[in-house]
Order: sequence, then C-alpha cells, then structure tokens
Amino acid sequence: MYEVTKRLKEISIAHRLPRHEGQCRFLHGHNYTPVITVQATLLDSQGMVVDFHLFSKFQEEMLDFYDHAVVLWTNDPLGGLLEDAQFDDSMGLRRLRRVEFTPTVEHLATKWLQEAHYFFNREVAGFRERGVCVKRMEVFETVDSCAVATAYVSTSRSN
Ligand SMILES: [Zn+2]
Repeated sequence: MYEVTKRLKEISIAHRLPRHEGQCRFLHGHNYTPVITVQATLLDSQGMVVDFHLFSKFQEEMLDFYDHAVVLWTNDPLGGLLEDAQFDDSMGLRRLRRVEFTPTVEHLATKWLQEAHYFFNREVAGFRERGVCVKRMEVFETVDSCAVATAYVSTSRSN
C-alpha cells in the first residue's frame, strides 16, 4: 500500500452553528486547512499514487467554491435572509453556500472527503484498477484543532 499526503492552502470561510449555546451561534470565520491523504494498492506508470499537481487542481476547485464564502445550514434562517435580500459582492457577500448540515468542522471534513473522492475518481487514470482511495481528510479549524474524516470501508464481517 502506498500513500501520499498534501496540505492544501487555507480556505477562509464564515459560518455559524445556530443551535450552539455558546459563541458559535454567531456568524464568525475560520481559516480552514485541509490535509488530504490518498492511497493506492498499485502505483501508476510514473511510479506515483497520484501526481501532486492534481492536489493543486483540487485545491483550485475548493478555493473557487468555498474561499471567502459564507457557509450556512439550509435550515439556518440567516441564509434565507441573505438570499431574500439578494446580497452580493457589491454589498460584501462574495458567495453564500447552503449545506445540508450544520457547518461544523466534522461535517465539512466529511463533505470535503466526498468531494475529493469524486474529484480523484474523475481525474485519476486507473482509479479503481489501482485501488486508489481518498483515505483521510483532516481539516484544521485552528492551528491545534482538527477533525478527521476517513474513507468508508466495507462493513462486511466474517463472524
Ligand atoms: Zn466556527
């Protein structure tokens, strides 16, 4: 088994956790740093798990979609207010991303693991044949706090 790991650039996101009893219910921001680990059972013809330039390409897609965005749960009334008011970049809102979950770092890591899986499945030749898998998505919300999402592994049991 082979693995490569890449630390991506920081992604600046504003969010809030509307049901949180503390300060997290208020709109605030973090600079998230994703760290992705990809594994493969077989290397490609270049002797690589995946070419590191693909991480840069994935990073660009992530930045395009999420950087300086406000990410809010679809059930968060603040998101509806921002949409109704048609806030846009001229009023200081670059992009609003509504998500189907409270935007905790755990949920973001899980979503970004899935997005990385779709990306590498699309971009990597021999993805299945070489057993390529996005194994781990660590997302640092602060310098010393991160959430980790790991790839789904078959639940079949032999007992
Ligand atoms: Zn936060």
